[in-house]
Amino acid sequence: MTKVTPSLGSVTLEIARSGSGGGQERFDVPVPSTHARVLDALSWVRENEDPSLGFRFACRVGMCGACAVVINGKETLACQTTLGEIDESTIRIEPLRGLPVQHDLIVDMRPFFSNLARAEAGLKPRDPQSRDLPIIAPDSNERTTIEAQNGCITCGACVSAIADQPQVDDPVGLAALNRILMLTLEERDSAGATRLDEFADEVRALRPQSAEHAESVCPANIPLASALEQLKSFVAGHGGDS
Ligand code: SF4
Repeated sequence: MTKVTPSLGSVTLEIARSGSGGGQERFDVPVPSTHARVLDALSWVRENEDPSLGFRFACRVGMCGACAVVINGKETLACQTTLGEIDESTIRIEPLRGLPVQHDLIVDMRPFFSNLARAEAGLKPRDPQSRDLPIIAPDSNERTTIEAQNGCITCGACVSAIADQPQVDDPVGLAALNRILMLTLEERDSAGATRLDEFADEVRALRPQSAEHAESVCPANIPLASALEQLKSFVAGHGGDS
């Protein structure tokens, strides 16, 4: 294993391609600085070697989740991974797992967002007639209760991380389950128990180790393992086995 340093001058990207023949394609990319990002290296390839290379990005600052890929076997954001932090001279970049590949590193995120919609992951106010949603103060107990579950950037990394783990058929996924937990804990929401009942089988089937693994790749540091644990206890409290 060789750590990339400025003196090395270049790094090899091994990128999964979806075009004719598929497979991996290797590109030698100059390393201007150890602070340069994998996203910068992908952009260099597209600008200098192959304009047809497909990858997604938007914000470049780790907020939008669009550039989530699998780097050397681990889900991460290309814009948040520096070339200097990778302890290997070849950087293998693959698309997220468990979602259909559209082109090279671009996956179709529609199943992911459909699952959030399927989980009815929007707040259902206790009084649907009222136009005023009660305000939760930032320092209130109500806000603290949901704080840990807040901040998902919908990158899909958690879904990819456990795509090969045993789950129920057609799983809704951990990001949606985390959202279900957040709404279950949310004082202003009225549909927590209903959502929970609908996905109780998946909550029971998901292994704590899977959630721990997904948590380890979550760029937003959502505590997915404790979220699953809480969901399992809620499901058990609703009459099922966890
Ligand atoms: S829970 Fe984390 S890993 Fe999963 S989609 Fe949200 S931010 Fe990404």
